[in-house]
Amino acid sequence: MTTWVFEGTVVPAGDIARLEFGAGEADVLPGRFGVPGLVDSHCHLTMGPGENGPRMFGADYANERLGELAAAGVSAVRDVGGNRAVTLKLATTEDDGRPLVLAAGRFLAPAGRYFPGMYEPVAPEELLAAVETEIADGATWLKLVGDFPEVGPDGPIRGSAMAQTYETDLIQAVVELAHTRGARVAAHVNTPIVSELIRVGVDSIEHGTSITEQDLEALGARGGAWTPTLCASVGSHKSDTPEQEQRRRARSEYLASMLSLAVRYGVRLLTGSDVVGSVAGEVALLVRHGLTVDQALAAASTSAQEYLGLTGDGNLVTYDADPREHPAVLARPAAVVLNHRRIS
Ligand SMILES: [Zn+2]
Repeated sequence: MTTWVFEGTVVPAGDIARLEFGAGEADVLPGRFGVPGLVDSHCHLTMGPGENGPRMFGADYANERLGELAAAGVSAVRDVGGNRAVTLKLATTEDDGRPLVLAAGRFLAPAGRYFPGMYEPVAPEELLAAVETEIADGATWLKLVGDFPEVGPDGPIRGSAMAQTYETDLIQAVVELAHTRGARVAAHVNTPIVSELIRVGVDSIEHGTSITEQDLEALGARGGAWTPTLCASVGSHKSDTPEQEQRRRARSEYLASMLSLAVRYGVRLLTGSDVVGSVAGEVALLVRHGLTVDQALAAASTSAQEYLGLTGDGNLVTYDADPREHPAVLARPAAVVLNHRRIS
């Protein structure tokens, strides 16, 4: 065992401190700035990029991803959908050598309304039983696909209309059941039905590119969360046409205006890598969309820990430069202590 010693500034709080944690011989960590562990609140440990959208992977892939996340300073992940056999096992097994995993298990979506091959469709009449099963098998979150484009054999049909997946009353029943069992609901949603989902008590809005001021006010008033996954929503692709580029810019501006309102109404903002980004990248994007660095850093660490019911105990990521002045340093930790063990 080692007693880790850190002398410097703890961010985002900003206190100058000497931290000592662990037991045994003292070892001073490099770096003058420290964060008590980053949180990837929208992660898919078993999904990777494929030719036509995401591909599903198994335990080896998930463990490799966890290793990469740990080296990047992530001490906890919320897996919001994927290969349930892998993610629920990770969520119900203790292992100090990797980040803590909270998992939602499978994607809850009906036939034809999610990426083919990424899920077993759940018919509306089977939805509540599926929720019970996920929770019984260790899910502390549920991942509901709230809306999705039409899907063909090659995946989502470009330009097809996004439609609501399940009736609002049924979604309300999912939320009530989850809450009765001590679980929470995260919903993938990009259309204005986000207002309905917030009205019926969904805890955490994922993407939420059509969220409105009224929605944010309602969500903030009951301590709800929003994971905007800017990496996925405003990321550009080489193949983008000028029209797509134009739409992306408009979306970016809209989300910036909503993010400042989210802060004003006390909505819990979270950072997530989804399948295409990283926590450090998401912090940079949040700052580019108008958040202060402190707010973005809290979304990626202490505020997320508090929302997810975790502490940063035993975790510290240090940096040579101040991430509040240079958010890019988040991608280059000087040292990472995960569950009392120095891993890089
Ligand atoms: Zn996702």
